[in-house]
Amino acid sequence: MKHYAVFGHPVAHSLSPRIHASFGRDAGIAIDYQAIDAGPDDFARLLAEFAARGGAGANVTLPLKEAALALCADVTERARRAGAANTLVRNGDDWHGDNTDGEGLVRDLTGRHGLDLRARRTLLIGAGGAARGVAPALLDAGIGDLYIVNRTPSRSDALADLLGQPGRVHPRHLGDIGSLGEFELVVNATSAARSDGLPTLPRSLVGRRMAAVDLNYGEAAVPFLAWGRASGAYAVVDGLGMLVEQAALSFARWHGTAPETDAIYGELRAEHAHLVTAD
Ligand code: NAP
Repeated sequence: MKHYAVFGHPVAHSLSPRIHASFGRDAGIAIDYQAIDAGPDDFARLLAEFAARGGAGANVTLPLKEAALALCADVTERARRAGAANTLVRNGDDWHGDNTDGEGLVRDLTGRHGLDLRARRTLLIGAGGAARGVAPALLDAGIGDLYIVNRTPSRSDALADLLGQPGRVHPRHLGDIGSLGEFELVVNATSAARSDGLPTLPRSLVGRRMAAVDLNYGEAAVPFLAWGRASGAYAVVDGLGMLVEQAALSFARWHGTAPETDAIYGELRAEHAHLVTAD
């Protein structure tokens, strides 16, 4: 049996082991997929020990995606553009890095939710590992101008530099959020709701037919999606579908077969129904 794992902190409540077990059952592939709690200080050591035990692939979640990229011998173009890796594939004695977050999000928004992203004036709130993963994919999906705001401005500046499209990508201070005008897509890529709470978001951001998309799911998505609903957003989407789709893309990298995602998505959505987080 091949060994897989998700690394992160905290990771105990990660849904990834359950999603991959479901994909494996459906595909008739026996896999062992564990959650391994790792912080920035012990990630490299724990990943090396996992490889020594025969680890064939790993997912990486917060706060380790940028560190994961640095531990790879080579990376895909989309991981390089994101400056972050969420999927590692063992290749001989080395790790090969990929980033499936962005394609996972775009698949969920365009496929499952039927959103046309083209030409949408977009606001991305956050510049951590998840924001880095989704920004290149949103640009490739044809959004219009992309504004990026972050609590620490140097990180939004660095992400905008990395994306390399100065005419289309605009880093701005979080404090200036009230003067940015209206958007047709607002994406919350912060973990703020897990700690100090979501920054105040003005009503002036809300454009006609705006989609409010949170990369978070569960309790952590409630404040942003409540804001979207109260502001009259046309579509309100949480990160549960993205989670399932990015996992499916990782699974396909490791096992060479694309799993069907609707069954496990439906199961997880039913369990989250009491939170009323998404349409
Ligand atoms: P990360 O690398 O630690 O980045 C966290 C981001 O949140 C940074 O931009 C940070 O700003 C911002 N932030 C944290 N607390 C804040 C506060 N109180 N006010 C304003 N901004 C704050 O984490 P990540 O990997 O990007 O993940 C972000 C969120 O997305 C997580 O909650 C994660 O669960 C979710 N996510 C979901 C999926 C999915 O598949 N659905 C995939 C990836 C991530 P600073 O730079 O100023 O610290």
